[in-house]
Amino acid sequence: MAIVPATEETIEQAAEALAKGEIVAFPTETVYGLGANALDARAVARVFAAKGRPSDKPLAVLVPGIAKVEDFAAVTVAARKLAQAFWPGPLTLVLPKRQDCPFAEPVSAGLGTIAFRAPDHDVAQMLLAKSGLPIVAPSANRSGNRSPKTAAEVEAELGDRPAMILDGGPSPLGVESTIVSLVGPVPTLLRQGALSAEAIEDVLDQKLTMTSAG
Ligand code: AMP
Ligand code: MG
Repeated sequence: MAIVPATEETIEQAAEALAKGEIVAFPTETVYGLGANALDARAVARVFAAKGRPSDKPLAVLVPGIAKVEDFAAVTVAARKLAQAFWPGPLTLVLPKRQDCPFAEPVSAGLGTIAFRAPDHDVAQMLLAKSGLPIVAPSANRSGNRSPKTAAEVEAELGDRPAMILDGGPSPLGVESTIVSLVGPVPTLLRQGALSAEAIEDVLDQKLTMTSAG
């Protein structure tokens, strides 16, 4: 059984597994994620394989906060404002990738952009802190299926593909993050999620362009 209760000890083991290039599933406040070291091309390839995810779909990256994002992407004024208001929390920000960004190429699927989020969940935060790594974390389901909200749902989706499934109870929100792109001239809503578009518009003092294109 790959499911283990999330404790300081098992989170430590999960962090070691990530550092070795393995993939592990864990809870965030939105849904369960399937994590890998964003710097490790083989680990990232394992995420695509485990999910059956098409290689032209990029992966979002979890970070502890906006300060860490500076190492990897261009942090705009709007990004800083939104992170200040809503991180940690269910908001994913798409930003222009820095040229010296060390992420494995498939993370951005050749788009030249990276999606970032700081999760508001103790287990995810402890995994980030203990590993010290940027962690790709798409939802822990097979491509095209619903996002899992419990460890048991992850196991039903992915079986023993993850080296570990950390069980931290049901994801409190159970809804995906809202995704906003700050790459173009106007902020664009790429996915409706747990955070309302209005709350984002209030902070930016600007309307979001709506699109269904990701
Ligand atoms: P998931 O956690 O499975 O919901 O995946 C996160 C979402 O972020 C997916 O819909 C991705 O397509 C999207 N995403 C990840 N990276 C980017 C990016 N660079 N630009 C736009 N969308 C992205
Ligand atoms: Mg998903």
